[in-house]
Amino acid sequence: MEIKTIVGLEIHVQLKTKTKMFCSCEASYFEDKANTHVCPVCLGLPGALPVLNKEALIKAIRVGKVLNFTINNRSRFDRKNYMYPDLFKGYQITQFEFPIDTDGFIDLDNNKRINIFRAHLEEDTAKSLHHEGYTLLDGNKAGIPLLEIVSAPEMYSSKEAKEYAKKVYNLVRFVGASDCDMEKGQMRFDVNVNLEIHKEGKIFKTPIVEIKNLNSFRSLERSIEYEEKRQLEEFEKTGKVLDRGNKSTRGWNDNLSKTYFQREKEESDDYRYFPEPDIPPLNLSDGFISKAIESIDVLPQVAQKKLEEEYLLPHSIVILIMEERKYYDFFQRITTLYKNYINLANWFSTDILSLVNQYNINLSDISTDEIVKILTAVDKKEITVSTGKQILKSVLIDKDDIDILLEKNSLISDQGKLDETVKEVLDKNPDIIEKYLSGKESILSFLIGEVMKILKGRANPLEVKNKILDGISKIKSN
Ligand SMILES: [Zn+2]
Repeated sequence: MEIKTIVGLEIHVQLKTKTKMFCSCEASYFEDKANTHVCPVCLGLPGALPVLNKEALIKAIRVGKVLNFTINNRSRFDRKNYMYPDLFKGYQITQFEFPIDTDGFIDLDNNKRINIFRAHLEEDTAKSLHHEGYTLLDGNKAGIPLLEIVSAPEMYSSKEAKEYAKKVYNLVRFVGASDCDMEKGQMRFDVNVNLEIHKEGKIFKTPIVEIKNLNSFRSLERSIEYEEKRQLEEFEKTGKVLDRGNKSTRGWNDNLSKTYFQREKEESDDYRYFPEPDIPPLNLSDGFISKAIESIDVLPQVAQKKLEEEYLLPHSIVILIMEERKYYDFFQRITTLYKNYINLANWFSTDILSLVNQYNINLSDISTDEIVKILTAVDKKEITVSTGKQILKSVLIDKDDIDILLEKNSLISDQGKLDETVKEVLDKNPDIIEKYLSGKESILSFLIGEVMKILKGRANPLEVKNKILDGISKIKSN
């Protein structure tokens, strides 16, 4: 028996705009008092007319570009009719037959291509606040612009689904279309999953399950893994296979790590879609579309190519830098003055990032000048690497003066002083030299340590080691 998991993903992204999709209410509402960002349009009061937000269109075009979509000049809004308490109007304005973006794709790291059917614009619903015996509604979220990105069912494991979702997340953020903060609900996943069971020369498909409203990569991955087990068990028990109308919707309980049954899923014709009469069909000019694309100042594909082909960075660091637009911007800023790219990448991916994360430092607040001074001093061997790291910390955290630190910590360039100190340490430690000569080579580090102590760390340990070895061989030959 061979079992194949089949996953399709619908990703809801709240587009980052100043105002809502069809009215001038402020779109940023996180933790604001309930129902303070509402007006007749987003409350669905009779007679209120929607006006389309141009910024949402531009962001949808940017996403269209980076997910390799065809961006359509002509698209249309439709009404999706259903009754639900969080939908004040009794219908949602969305795009059904003619979405703005169609036929996109993303390539996974192993070059497997995942096709993306479409990305369509729609409006978010209100938020339900459930209490014991009653539910309150907060309209602040109602009418926030959403882009729903619908993949083909072409991911065959939870790992592939997670990789795809992560790539969409990175690309959408890189072009500033959304912050995708999942804790704030700015990105949510609906997963369609079922199994293809190859058994005794036949193929059985289990009923498709849609898991709704996942808000982390981890729950995405784990809910698919849970369904793989549950659907196989159910198939073995009941033999039930995919049939029209037997799709179901399930929720995800993160604490129990289980999906739970919610309802049989409505087929799409239950929604009685029809063209939205209050918004004329969209007819975007080529000029509008190309201007929206140009508003992406750096295409992620171009940025990545630059890191790989111009800076010749290792793949793992390229992936890291491409995770955040601010990483890329920081890197770019330093490279205008510092050309040892791989060295910079190493410092960035380890010491700089760990300080930034640990102390919550804003990358854009870090001075280019200071970073370049530290790296250059290390390159010129004016300071050691470990001193460089200490200086980096002092400068970033304690805001100490870079020039004073470099001056104070620079290595002793006076060879006479170095020779003199080595001689002094050797003269003081004949017994240690004896031990070294009798084969205890590890004791050399004690001598190096003594020299470094006298010089307050301002010497290159390798150079000190060589001088000590020279000194010992002179003693030996005498
Ligand atoms: Zn409004």
